[in-house]
Amino acid sequence: MLGQMMQQPLLISSLLVHAERHHGEQEVVSRRVEGDIHRETYREMAARSRRMAKALGALGVKFGDRVATLAWNGHRHMELYYAVSGSGAVLHTLNPRLHPDQIVYIADHAEDQVLCFDMTFWPLIQAVAGRTKTVKHWVAMTARAHMPADAAKVPGVLCYEDLLEAQDDAFAWPSFDENTASSLCYTSGTTGNPKGVLYSHRSTVLHTFAIALPDSLSVSATDCILPVVPMFHVNAWGLPYAACMAGAKLVFPGPGLDGKSLYELFEAERVTVSAGVPTVWQALLAHVEANGLKFSTMRRTVIGGSACPPAMLRKFGDEHDVRVLHAWGMTEMSPVGTVGTFKPKHHALDAEGRYAVMAKQGRAVYGVDMKIVDERGAELPWGGETSGDLLVRGPWIVQQYFKGEGGDPLQDGWFPTGDVAKIDTDGFMQITDRSKDVIKSGGEWIGSIDLENIAMAHPAVAMAACIAARHPKWDERPLLVVMKKPGATLTREELLGFFEGKIAKWWTPDDVVFVEAIPLGATGKMQKNKLRDQFRDHLLPGA
Ligand code: AMP
Repeated sequence: MLGQMMQQPLLISSLLVHAERHHGEQEVVSRRVEGDIHRETYREMAARSRRMAKALGALGVKFGDRVATLAWNGHRHMELYYAVSGSGAVLHTLNPRLHPDQIVYIADHAEDQVLCFDMTFWPLIQAVAGRTKTVKHWVAMTARAHMPADAAKVPGVLCYEDLLEAQDDAFAWPSFDENTASSLCYTSGTTGNPKGVLYSHRSTVLHTFAIALPDSLSVSATDCILPVVPMFHVNAWGLPYAACMAGAKLVFPGPGLDGKSLYELFEAERVTVSAGVPTVWQALLAHVEANGLKFSTMRRTVIGGSACPPAMLRKFGDEHDVRVLHAWGMTEMSPVGTVGTFKPKHHALDAEGRYAVMAKQGRAVYGVDMKIVDERGAELPWGGETSGDLLVRGPWIVQQYFKGEGGDPLQDGWFPTGDVAKIDTDGFMQITDRSKDVIKSGGEWIGSIDLENIAMAHPAVAMAACIAARHPKWDERPLLVVMKKPGATLTREELLGFFEGKIAKWWTPDDVVFVEAIPLGATGKMQKNKLRDQFRDHLLPGA
């Protein structure tokens, strides 16, 4: 017997329709490339999205066509999120921090028809425009007055605001199968070419419900959300969708991602919730500390993308009364898989105990199932002791990559994340490493993240990466690569002494090298593969 409820497809456009109808007065505030602070309501944004949907149709964009963006977090990017997906085309968010060759490769692979860009990226557009195979229109996301004087250098350049001007907002979002592709993101591809992950309307809406839940990212109409995480990094972790679902105020930082610009926007717009990778928070906290500032409205921040150092959890908690929600996920997972929110028993813990729980990557949100397995694929127990390869499954997890790239990625219906993790009896997962970053010493595994977290707790350390260095007896031993805070003094011996009592003695790194900077990838993660290349021949003391 079938249920007898309405068959309404889960479509991305329904999120905007809801925001317009039920939270029409709520604001979307953007610091723009033009230098101003722009304000619009959900009602205005929805009308502009409909006009943009018509404009894209007029440009010849058809159902299923890919429309790319190269843009910061801002209202026009948000309008495109809905205009493109809502009209049945596919939004492809390109990462502007990639090398132009990679951008050309990805745009060609995706067969992008239109590419919309912020003016910051005009030099990049000039570098790639003659090389891409499928892009017919280049849309500068600005008004006529800010169009580049040399716009004619790229044939087919259009002005976003002109396109809008030419349309009215009489447009009804089409209805179609909820399994239709909605958006496309490419993995960072540290090895080999990046692969496309093609989300559907259904997977996106389900993911939006899941991240909005109270024990997840807890998105509410009373929140003011500033996503620092870029809209080109897995759809800003889903916040542009969740904000519409909840009717929350949104604040977009545009290109102003330095500590000072962010802090000023947090305060001026009374931001309550934010989200970003640890490297961004480091810059913000450094600014706040150096100037003796406090957050007057911020209550929570989601930190993920790479492990949040416990020292950062404490700084936010003890000094700023900001609750860190440590979250884990992947491009292949839309991206959220786990969030570190407490169970009732954790409230009885002292501060020390609570921070220990928060340092883990958290528990699965409804919809994501996870398990850890040994090298033969046999499931390992949840006890917090054994670590194994982490596998996941769920309705917003990739089944296969775009165009079948790389073959079938699944193992018996589970997606292998490439992460190595432990899961405790409460279901809290803790990443110990990327499988390719694990240090194998004398047949035993040493988790590099634990060592980095300890190093980062040292007051003189700005950033630390732990990599495997070759060792004649043990195969591999940990080498710590450290970037000091500006003006700080620290010796190898002092830092190694700092590990005493904090970790099994044999886990202590064999050596420390100090560097000016640790290379970061396009989404703010440390590029350990580059460090491994750089220190391939590093001679460990006593080796
Ligand atoms: P991406 O697809 O670029 O977002 O990268 C996903 C990978 O980032 C995961 O497989 C993890 O290795 C890493 N990652 C994401 N969040 C965390 C976290 N909270 N702690 C440790 N690693 C993380």
